[in-house]
Amino acid sequence: MIGRGPPADALLDGFARFRREAWPGLSEHYRRLARRAQAARTMIVACADARVDPQTIFAAGPGELFVVRNVANIVPPYEPDERSHGTSAALEFAVRILKVRQIVVLGHSRCEGVRALLQGAGRKGQDFLEPWLCIAEPVLWPVPAGVADRDLERHFEEGVIRLSLANIQTFPWVAERVKAGGLTLTGYHFDIASGRCGGSRRPVRSRWSRKPRPASLPAVCPDTGRRGVRRRRCGPARSGWRRLRARSR
Ligand SMILES: [Zn+2]
Repeated sequence: MIGRGPPADALLDGFARFRREAWPGLSEHYRRLARRAQAARTMIVACADARVDPQTIFAAGPGELFVVRNVANIVPPYEPDERSHGTSAALEFAVRILKVRQIVVLGHSRCEGVRALLQGAGRKGQDFLEPWLCIAEPVLWPVPAGVADRDLERHFEEGVIRLSLANIQTFPWVAERVKAGGLTLTGYHFDIASGRCGGSRRPVRSRWSRKPRPASLPAVCPDTGRRGVRRRRCGPARSGWRRLRARSR
C-alpha cells in the first residue's frame, strides 16, 4: 500500500478475489500489455458516477479504453492558459500522443451532477463544483416548450453530452483530425435502470458552439441577457430550471 490511511477492507478483499479468480486467466494478457506502451484506440469521457462504469458497459478488457471520468461527463472548451485542466490534458494525451480513433462521451440517467446543475450548482462551501458545473450551464436555456417535466432531466443529460461533444471540437488538433477523417466523435446516454444505451453518430452542431471561440460561450446569459459573455462571469442559475422554464414560455 502506498500512503497512509485505514485499510480499505472491501478493496483489499476485491483485490484478493481478482488475484485468485481473474489473474490466472488474464496474467499473460497483462504481461503482453506491460511489454509495450498502451495503445487504446478509444477514449471515453464518462461521469464519475459509481454506477456507470464504461469498462463494464462496453465489455472492454484491460488496455482497450482510455477513460477520463469527471462530474457530469463535462468537457470544457479549448482554453489554453496557465491553469490546470485535467480533462483537457487527458484529451490532448489521447488525441496527440495515443492518437485514438474514436472519442465517446458517455452520459447517463439519474446524473447527480446534472441535477446539481439544475438545482443551482453554487452551494455554500463548494470550492470547485460551481465553476465546473457552470461550464454546462448553456444547456439550461432556453428550455424547449415541448419537453414534459418528467423528461427534463433526460433532456439536460443529453444536452450535456452534446455540449461536451461540441466543446471537444473547439480543440484545434481534434478539429483537424475529425476533418481529415481520422477521428470520430460519438455520444451515448446510458439508462441505469433499463441498461439501454442510446447514441448518435450525427455531427454535433449545437446552437452555442456553431462558431467555437476559446474562453467564451456565445450564448445568452439568463441573468444578464448578454450574448457571448465569458462563462466564468456568468453565475449558475441559482433558482434552478423552473425559473428558466417560466422565462422561456
Ligand atoms: Zn453523472
